[in-house]
Amino acid sequence: MKEVILVKDGELALKGLNRSTFEDKLIKNIRRRLSHLGKFHFEKAQSTISVMPENGDTDLDEAAEIIGKVFGIVGYSRAALCDKDFDTILKTAEEYLYNKLEAVRTFKVESKRSDKKFPYKSPEISREAGAYILKRHPHLKVDVHNPDLIVYIEVRDRYTFIHGNQEKGAGGMPVGTNGKGMLLISGGIDSPVAGWMMAKRGIELAAVHFASPPYTSKRAEMKVHELLRKVAQYSGRIKLYTVRFTEIQEAIRDNCPEDTFTLVMRRHMMRIASMLAEKEGCQALITGESVGQVASQTIYALGCTDKAAAYPVFRPCIGMDKTEIIEISRKIDTFDISIEPYEDCCTVFTPKHPKTKPTPELLEETEAVIDWTELLKIAAETAEIRYISLREDAE
Ligand code: ATP
Ligand code: MG
Repeated sequence: MKEVILVKDGELALKGLNRSTFEDKLIKNIRRRLSHLGKFHFEKAQSTISVMPENGDTDLDEAAEIIGKVFGIVGYSRAALCDKDFDTILKTAEEYLYNKLEAVRTFKVESKRSDKKFPYKSPEISREAGAYILKRHPHLKVDVHNPDLIVYIEVRDRYTFIHGNQEKGAGGMPVGTNGKGMLLISGGIDSPVAGWMMAKRGIELAAVHFASPPYTSKRAEMKVHELLRKVAQYSGRIKLYTVRFTEIQEAIRDNCPEDTFTLVMRRHMMRIASMLAEKEGCQALITGESVGQVASQTIYALGCTDKAAAYPVFRPCIGMDKTEIIEISRKIDTFDISIEPYEDCCTVFTPKHPKTKPTPELLEETEAVIDWTELLKIAAETAEIRYISLREDAE
């Protein structure tokens, strides 16, 4: 029996975008994600994309799992594909869904006929298929309001699709339909969640991580790679810049008052991230900041950080509680990695009493003691580049 995956795209999100741009991008994203599983053929009709493997032995379990993480999809289901012969349709429906029909108590059949030349109308198809199934599964009852299983029969132009309940998709918009953002990723809980949230809105991700060897270790950098690999399951491949931040942090330590260390550091992060964002053609920076979470995230501190950025700073976690952020990090499987205890450059030279009500003017004055231009330029230009794919072997 030939099997395909039917994908329902997120039509409600389509307001500003033209449908075919949205669908073409979605198809491109799905095709790229499935490329290691073999060749697929795609057909679009009635806000459904049919993903059809060209070879019979393609691993559809893995394909469905991958599709479940592609943004821009509301729901998806595996489906049997059969000819448009009425007896074949009934037989295929019962055989294909046999295990599911055995496992439930109630069902109903929903039919759709987009080929109006097909000699049976939708209610007739549903009625006949319902009777056929009941005869072979006498324990079942029909429940039209709240059935355990819905048997869908869709008669299209060239073939018929048959499937059961659909799985919930990842939602959002296809990555790449809303520009590109530079994610500042630490090894913590919040920034991978922030990246995931913006990728969900169709933003392609690039990333920057600041490392301060020898104060921070290689293992801390590898943790960031692992985190991004999880995010990449949803966003697709991510280009990561690892910036050597040691000299800048030491210069801050040697030249600035202790209570401004963290803020000056964060402003320099924004400056370097902005340079890399320009190089990558990004339109925004993305951070995992949440208002009030730590001293560098008071409303005053965030205002000072913003002033150093050359792009809008997207902070999708801004109004979330830590527990809410953790909930997402568990869902996207980054939590266990994030809580591994490796040092971050933010914890190097942390002031005992950081300023919680700084002003941009005060920080500008503080920063004016030395010329940072060259240090920042070198840090951006010598950043190590690495591509993080969803699978390690694909890098
Ligand atoms: P997270 O859990 O994401 O580490 P946090 O609550 O620990 O966040 P901070 O350490 O103050 O907060 O960092 C705030 C944000 O600054 C992070 O979410 C991240 O976007 C960015 N950031 C912090 N450290 C780094 C780093 N080493 N490299 C890149 N970005 C960083
Ligand atoms: Mg952190």
